[in-house]
Amino acid sequence: MRAIQITHTGGAEVLQLRELPTPTPGPGEALVQIEACGVNFIDIYLREGRYASPLPFIPGQEAAGVVLAVGPDAASVKVGDRVAWCGVPATYAQFAVAPVARLIAVPDGITTRQAAAAMLQGMTAHYLSHSTYAIQPNDAVLVHAGAGGVGLLLIQMAKRLGARVFATVSTDGKAALARAAGADETILYTREDFAAKVRELTDGAGIPVVYDSVGKTTFDGSLACLRPRGTLVLYGGSSGAVPPFDLIQLSTRGSLYITRPTLKDYTATREELVQRAGDVLGWVADGSLKLRIEHSYALADAAQAHRDLESRKTTGKLLLIP
Ligand code: NDP
Repeated sequence: MRAIQITHTGGAEVLQLRELPTPTPGPGEALVQIEACGVNFIDIYLREGRYASPLPFIPGQEAAGVVLAVGPDAASVKVGDRVAWCGVPATYAQFAVAPVARLIAVPDGITTRQAAAAMLQGMTAHYLSHSTYAIQPNDAVLVHAGAGGVGLLLIQMAKRLGARVFATVSTDGKAALARAAGADETILYTREDFAAKVRELTDGAGIPVVYDSVGKTTFDGSLACLRPRGTLVLYGGSSGAVPPFDLIQLSTRGSLYITRPTLKDYTATREELVQRAGDVLGWVADGSLKLRIEHSYALADAAQAHRDLESRKTTGKLLLIP
């Protein structure tokens, strides 16, 4: 099969198209012909070596396609089923094996590509807004990188929960997209002090939660946005990792909370996975959650997809089509 393989970590050039053996499903696994796979920021962290993975490896951990074969003890899916999954490595390929316990049936009314686009970022937006900090009606919330893949979905879910949503973005074009997704206020954090703006918008009170995926460049400002006992949800580091932090600041800034959550822990059981994926795919199917699939690249162009994502050029979702 054709697949992208990484033999050493580094820049986008380490994503090499190779001919590799098609995997065989073992017990509890299915072999899936991939129709589309998602490109996510975590793929960049693994490619760079910021997150460790044994070498060589096939990158990617989100896809959707059609079941071609099932191993023993995998009767919950059958050949021909349309399925989607995330959090299982090796999806930048024509075929992949995945544990059937991680597969979600793609409902009627949505395309396989939409399912591939919705799983990882959609369930992330879901757990952030419903569980990590469960948004209450009339909460004012800040979403960083509001025109990004997670950002556009998180804005929509926060609005659905009744929040007043502020979003940061780097350009006027991205601001328009964030507003179209429902953001009440957009802040160009490349031009203005976003913490001061949040204080101004809340008459000095601050807000109960900041969803921060940008990390290094936004962390201090995010803390400065919070009202006493507010929560900083640091869920990524698109600008780089946050340096070591003195916990006493949580006290002096108003008994604040910080959490560093990850999707794996919020989809740890089959029940939770099915519930979150069901909500996300159901909302896509009924049209109440809009996906923005900005660009679909050929598998061979995976390096270009990474370059575009890491250079802040993109909005919404990027897919690879094997
Ligand atoms: P995005 O589409 O959001 O792309 C990243 C965005 O971050 C950019 O478009 C850019 O938006 C912003 N950004 C700010 N500074 C930089 C910088 N120096 N370099 C690059 N981008 C920058 O990506 P995803 O939706 O795929 O992921 C968003 C974040 O969420 C990532 O950090 C990812 O790791 C994290 N994540 C975490 C999960 C978890 O469970 N913890 C799960 C899924 C994603 P702008 O131009 O507007 O500033």
